Amino acid sequence: MRGPVVVIGAGQAGMQICDSLRKGGYAGPLVLIGEESSLPYQRPPLSKKFLTGTVDADRLLFRPADFYVKNDVDLRLGQRVCAIDRQQRTLTLDDGGTLTYSKLALATGSRVRTLSCPGADLDGVYYIRTLDDGKSLCERLTHAERIVVIGGGFIGLEVAAIARELDKSVVVIEATDRLMARAIPPILSDFYASLHRERGVGLFLGQGVKEIRRDGDMLSLETDAGTVEHADTIVVGIGIVPNVEIAEHSGLACRNGIIVDARSVTDDPDIVAAGDCTMHYNGFLAREIRLESVQNAVDQAKVAAASLCGQDKTYAVVPWFWSDQYDVKLQMAGIGQPHEEYVVRGTIGPDGFSIFYFNEGALLGADSVNRPADHMACRKLLAKGIAIGPEQVGDPAFDLKQAAQA
Ligand code: FAD
Repeated sequence: MRGPVVVIGAGQAGMQICDSLRKGGYAGPLVLIGEESSLPYQRPPLSKKFLTGTVDADRLLFRPADFYVKNDVDLRLGQRVCAIDRQQRTLTLDDGGTLTYSKLALATGSRVRTLSCPGADLDGVYYIRTLDDGKSLCERLTHAERIVVIGGGFIGLEVAAIARELDKSVVVIEATDRLMARAIPPILSDFYASLHRERGVGLFLGQGVKEIRRDGDMLSLETDAGTVEHADTIVVGIGIVPNVEIAEHSGLACRNGIIVDARSVTDDPDIVAAGDCTMHYNGFLAREIRLESVQNAVDQAKVAAASLCGQDKTYAVVPWFWSDQYDVKLQMAGIGQPHEEYVVRGTIGPDGFSIFYFNEGALLGADSVNRPADHMACRKLLAKGIAIGPEQVGDPAFDLKQAAQA
């Protein structure tokens, strides 16, 4: 190969691609370019404990600075790639410079979806994607008193939980009629609605935001149902948009993500992509999907690195995800939605339960609440293709762990 392998995006997937390339024996030149100024870091804590102010930013770093030196990774932070010229194999950077590549990896991640209503850009309206966002919100929470969270998805609800733990007044406004509706079934949304209400969160479901206005020191938010809420801080968590633009402008196929095959290769054989930015084929699910999770970024990056090294590795992995709200940990294995049938193991409540999902009697996945053993068992059952049916799961005497070890 002439020229370096260049990885665009120094996040979870970009970092993993570099790590796997070196571990996989690639000893040639390697450049990792990231537009953020911080050393690569983990995002999940940003909507969780980091907001309490008790977690130092250094603890979020994947690796210390000397990792990049020792592994001969030419880490270029604070630089944005503006364009890819696939004929010339060059990249244009935002400082006007250019860089030649032999092979390219796109790990550009995603950015927050922004509110479009009047007042959306007022001071006091916060988003959370980057370490800088996390630091700003953390600092704001030290003196905020009344918080409105727009969006009852994972990130909005994690922020709501932390804000309640910090004893702030919290209201959540959600446009659909239930919480986390994209990812979990109504029975679980109801559990989370009760949990948040019990902890003192005001929930307004089925209401979109019409307008935000400045009202002296406060912000006032009006919903399309006429509810008016006052806050000193508004946190918006209404989803993300994959960063596909540089790929799209270079002519790579994109459809709600950069399209890659099961080897994480785009329609240009010299360009791979991994993480939030991809619409990818997962052999385990036997379909295309775009996922926003650490698991996907890490596992797909490993496949992308193997492809860059000329190895024949395909992506066929059980998806999993987690969310922490108060002392309640949700762990999701497989993709359980939509499903024909579900079975609850345990009793619905904070002490722990799992919901297993089935189609035509076949296990699709499970959502476990404070039941980590069920989660691990479900991941193993799915990965090994061990068939268990609704009757077995519904029988409290049935040993899931043992079944998963078969
Ligand atoms: P990213 O981590 O977003 O990295 C992409 C990087 O590329 C960014 O730094 C971006 O600035 C950079 N970039 C983009 N374009 C360019 C360019 N043109 N030039 C240079 N650099 C560029 N997942 C879970 O599984 N569990 C959780 O509990 C969880 N919690 C989360 C909480 C928060 C607050 C957030 C924001 C995410 C959370 N996630 C969670 C999701 C998870 O963090 C992401 O799925 C994961 O980070 C995706 O990794 P990635 O490498 O694809 O993208």
